[in-house]
Amino acid sequence: MPRLALSRRPALTALAATATLTLAACGGPSAGAGTTTSAADAESCPGEVLDVVVSVSQWGSIVEQLGGDCTNVTTVLASSAVDPHDYEPTTADIAAFTDAELVVLNGADYDHWAADAVATLDPAPTVVDAAEVVGIEEEHAEEEEHAEEEPSKGEEHAEEEHGHGGVNPHLWYSPEYVQAVAAAVTEQLGELSPDAADHFAEQAQAWESDLQPYLDELAALQSSAAGRSYAATESVFQYTAEAIGLTDATPEGYRDAASNETDPAPGDVAAFEAALADGSVDVLVYNSQTEGSLPEQLRAAAETAGVPVVEVTESAPDGESSFVSWQLDQLQQLSNALGGGQ
Ligand SMILES: [Zn+2]
Repeated sequence: MPRLALSRRPALTALAATATLTLAACGGPSAGAGTTTSAADAESCPGEVLDVVVSVSQWGSIVEQLGGDCTNVTTVLASSAVDPHDYEPTTADIAAFTDAELVVLNGADYDHWAADAVATLDPAPTVVDAAEVVGIEEEHAEEEEHAEEEPSKGEEHAEEEHGHGGVNPHLWYSPEYVQAVAAAVTEQLGELSPDAADHFAEQAQAWESDLQPYLDELAALQSSAAGRSYAATESVFQYTAEAIGLTDATPEGYRDAASNETDPAPGDVAAFEAALADGSVDVLVYNSQTEGSLPEQLRAAAETAGVPVVEVTESAPDGESSFVSWQLDQLQQLSNALGGGQ
C-alpha cells in the first residue's frame, strides 16, 4: 500500500564532516548505511579488547563512550540519511555481526534485521537488547500470547508494517531507559573483559557526568512544561515529553495512524489543524529527519497559528557524535518554545 503523505524517505540533511575516530566504510555494499567503526586503544586497555557491534547510531555513540579504550565498536546503521524503520540490511551489514563478542540492539522490533542476523550466529554473542533491559515487549510476542483474541485494527497494522506497533521503540528518548541500557552495557563489558572492569566503571562514571547537563535541562523543563501541551508529527519525542510532564495533545486518530506508519484519515488531519488553530496546542514537535507533504502541511498550519515548532530527529544528525549535545540542542529549542529561556 503506498504511503504517500507520511512517506518515510529521510530528508537530505547537510552532510557534516564525520567525527574523529569514525571511518565511513568505503566501497562495500554497507556504505549506504554509513557503517562506522571506532577503534580501541589496546595499549591503554588494562584487559582484553572486545569487538562490539551496535545496530543503530542512537546507541552506537553511547556504547563507544562506555567501551573507551577497550572496545572496537562497529555501528551498522550510522547514517541519518537511512531510515531505520524501513531498513533492509545488506550482506555486509549481516557479516558485521559475525565476530562480535557483544551486540547491542534496540529491540522492540525497531531493528529486527539485526536481531535476525544475531540469531544465526554460532557461537552466539552476548546481547544487550535495550527493549528487554527496560522491560518493553515486542508487539509480536504479545500477539502470539493472545493469538486467539481478535486483534484490534492497530495490531493488524503493526503486523503489516513491522513498524512502531503498540510499542514506541524510540527508547533512547527516555532518560530513564538510556541510563538503564548504559548500565546493562557496562555490566556486560565488565563480564566479558574482567581485567578491564575498572576501566569500564570509569568510563561509565564519565558518561554519567556528561549526561548531567541533559538531565538538568530535563529537570528545568519540568516547571515550564507544567500544564502545557504538545502535538507531534511522529511519536519519536514521546518518552522525553513524558519525562518532563508535557501533555500529548496530538489528536488520537492522527497519532494512531502515524505510529502505525499509515496515512491518517482526512478527518484526523483536520482535527490536528483545528487543534493547532484553536490554541489547544502549545508546541508542534516536528521530526525533520523524514519528509512528507503531510508533516509539512501541519508545520505550515502551526506557523500560521503562531504555534512554535520544535525540530527533532530520529537519530543524531550526521557529524554529531554526542548523544548529549544532540539531545540538549532539541531540549533548548523546546525550552525557548515554552518561553522558559535557556
Ligand atoms: Zn521512528
